[in-house]
Amino acid sequence: MKAPLQAVNETALAMHRVQHAFDGHTVVKGVDLTVAPGEVVCLLGPSGCGKTTLLRIAAGLETLQEGSVSLQGEQIAAPGLRHVPPEKRNVGLAFQDSALFPHLSVLENVAFGLKHLSVKERRERAEELLSQLGMANYMTTYPHMLSGGQQQRVALARALAPEPRLMLLDEPFSSLDARLRDRIRDDTLHVLKKVGAATLLVTHDPEEAMFMADRIALMRDGRIVQTGTPRELYCSPKDPFVVTFFGEVNELEGVVEEGHVATPVGWVPAENIADGTTVQVMIRPEALRIIERDLPVHAHAHSHIVMAKLLGRSSLLHLCAHGENGQEAHLHARVPGVFLPSEGQPIDIHLDLSQVFVFPQDSQDSMP
Ligand code: ATP
Repeated sequence: MKAPLQAVNETALAMHRVQHAFDGHTVVKGVDLTVAPGEVVCLLGPSGCGKTTLLRIAAGLETLQEGSVSLQGEQIAAPGLRHVPPEKRNVGLAFQDSALFPHLSVLENVAFGLKHLSVKERRERAEELLSQLGMANYMTTYPHMLSGGQQQRVALARALAPEPRLMLLDEPFSSLDARLRDRIRDDTLHVLKKVGAATLLVTHDPEEAMFMADRIALMRDGRIVQTGTPRELYCSPKDPFVVTFFGEVNELEGVVEEGHVATPVGWVPAENIADGTTVQVMIRPEALRIIERDLPVHAHAHSHIVMAKLLGRSSLLHLCAHGENGQEAHLHARVPGVFLPSEGQPIDIHLDLSQVFVFPQDSQDSMP
């Protein structure tokens, strides 16, 4: 046995070459994944890509078929050698609809897994977590008297109470309505960071992953496509799939000439791609910046408005851009605030190249 202090410095979770099949159909294909102490890692990806299966393997709810899994340096699963059962892994689990014990009060639910502590310590620990999650006034309430959001807060407190080696959260906020979800996410992240819980969180929502994660592992079809900070994935996507996963994008086709691609909205650099290569130019709607007339911006393109829609915090413009050589392109631009120019109005646009990505046409298909 390692001394607890040493164990804290070990990687909280290490999954190595994990592979898993259901009925001969491989759904997790050789995944390597780590969670450092105190780190929140989000497993992000479209429905059916294998996120939950990976989380269930870490929890011990699925028996590992290939690869290995370690918690704080202790190997807990290796096929044919070892399978530590879920209740012996000391992991905290919370799911979309985590069931609470109906006959126990909120406080008793949270204190339930703390049998090794004295009654006083159990109570103090449960009260502290419930207060941090905004449930101080509900200690004696029973689960059926709570809203869905309150139940989810209690479920999180209950999972956190035994100070697990790893928190495993599977879509914990997805059954909540949008406004409540934002608040609970905020409170949850605050508590996870305060107690320094290493966490693996499954979500299909890119915004949730960007908000919660220190690192995101983006999955597609059983594999991790890219791992990195939210900024790395958003600003330096590895392939078209990563770009499209984070939101709508304008796609144009072009050919590289002297290190650039000519598009109806101007020249775009195509670094490290050979001249003559056919490429896909991916332009995020927020990359199209509207220029006030007469503002001296070095390079810009002309367009006219086809349609403008107010979305609330931003406005969506459908533009028709007119390039040199008569090239035209229909593009979506997203601008902050209320901006509703009339149909046909001419508009000059400028490209924010940090939100434009160029990939050879034969890169991975961009459809999720
Ligand atoms: P979602 O976001 O929809 O929950 P996911 O990314 O979490 O999806 P998984 O639930 O891991 O994906 O499922 C991956 C694939 O494995 C899917 O095709 C699913 O149908 C299949 N699958 C999952 N569990 C089982 C099972 N117990 N038996 C057979 N197939 C399964």
